[in-house]
Amino acid sequence: MDRQQEFVLRTLEERDIRFVRLWFTDVLGFLKSVAVAPAELEGAFAEGIGFDGSAIEGFARVYESDMVAKPDPATFQVLPWETADGQLYSARMFCDITMPDGSPCWSDPRHVLRRTLSKASEAGFTCYVHPEIEFFLLSKLTNDGTEPEPADNGGYFDQASHDTAPHFRRHAIEALEAMGISVEFSHHEGAPGQQEIDLRYADALTMADNVMTFRYVVKEVAIKDGVRASFMPKPFSDQPGSGMHTHVSLFEGDRNAFYDSEDPYELSGTGKAFVAGLLKHAREISAVTNQWVNSYKRLIVGGEAPTAVCWGHANRSALVRVPMYSPGKASSRRVEIRSIDSACNPYLAYAVVLAAGLKGVREGYELAPPTEDDVWSLTETERRAAGYDSLPQNLTEALTAMENSELLAETLGEGVFDYFLRNKRAEWDAYRRQVTPYELRTYLPML
Ligand code: GLN
Ligand code: MG
Ligand code: MG
Ligand code: MG
Repeated sequence: MDRQQEFVLRTLEERDIRFVRLWFTDVLGFLKSVAVAPAELEGAFAEGIGFDGSAIEGFARVYESDMVAKPDPATFQVLPWETADGQLYSARMFCDITMPDGSPCWSDPRHVLRRTLSKASEAGFTCYVHPEIEFFLLSKLTNDGTEPEPADNGGYFDQASHDTAPHFRRHAIEALEAMGISVEFSHHEGAPGQQEIDLRYADALTMADNVMTFRYVVKEVAIKDGVRASFMPKPFSDQPGSGMHTHVSLFEGDRNAFYDSEDPYELSGTGKAFVAGLLKHAREISAVTNQWVNSYKRLIVGGEAPTAVCWGHANRSALVRVPMYSPGKASSRRVEIRSIDSACNPYLAYAVVLAAGLKGVREGYELAPPTEDDVWSLTETERRAAGYDSLPQNLTEALTAMENSELLAETLGEGVFDYFLRNKRAEWDAYRRQVTPYELRTYLPML
């Protein structure tokens, strides 16, 4: 047993933890958990825990279904939930999934991201990311198709607006920090009930784990505070949706490879080629960064969500922004990709974003000039004349762009690529059969 594994066993004993939850993520981004008794953990470290992979979305076909979850001791954290007498009782570890022969499972999203990161490290780069995670607090979760009720009436940066859960953000942040997830900023977002919590940067794999933990913790804390949280990209027709703007930088050792003090945007050649990669492959990666039918209701003009494939500095309508909050500070030079939404699979989303950017770097893509005009105010024709591509307007358009993408097939691996397309085509087909209240309201009286 190695030192980290020993540390886990010792901590369990010292703190009298009763349950260890072994976590992993399915292809669609849902958190899976199997609880083991501390006494079983030594065995789990040595051999892993077997499970039926064919019962997990996207993992395996029935005839090759035996899979093994191997806990990663570096991700051990005690969960901040207490019994009535103040005792902490459970902990979690993320797992890597392997086949019975010990080889990695190619449909494990954590492995998909690891593969992309090891390509980055072969090229000399460590990838850091930090997400700004937006979500809604609702008074309850409805499932009858009616619009939900926001838990407060606040707006952007409002202080005293948490009508039903006044201390929610503090509770959520305390719980996250107790699990070693540092929070940099948090504030009320633009829509009633909408919150934003921004995590301190970390390497991309740690951050994908953190995003999974974040969603779980935020939902639990909301319930404790008497409300519900939802990461649905666009729950309200007339309010902005919830994005997960993601800031990315590449480091070569201690040096930020995106920084160049001489450039007007302080962006190095590597940074520019990376952005060019994001733009060139933007349409292909959309189905992964914005994976639900509902995701595309957010990507419309207004609401500060991107619709056109372009980049800029102050421009909130651009897909990629180069923020200039701290000019001259090499370590904070980064680029912000604004399409990703809060309901993506963070492992797969980071994998495709990094793969697109790294391809730009590897192949020396040219970056088009920045767009500082407001692309929202242009008509579709004006946009095309100005040379901007549009992001896909719906899931099926995104899937068509993905289907033809070598980059995506290679980054996700054949199994995930095929499963994802099949699953999402079915989602689109189920949706497009529906006659919506909008159509009835509009067409029935008129036609
Ligand atoms: N909610 C907006 C989006 O969907 C972002 C708002 C903001 O952070 N400026 O992307
Ligand atoms: Mg923000
Ligand atoms: Mg925001
Ligand atoms: Mg932002």
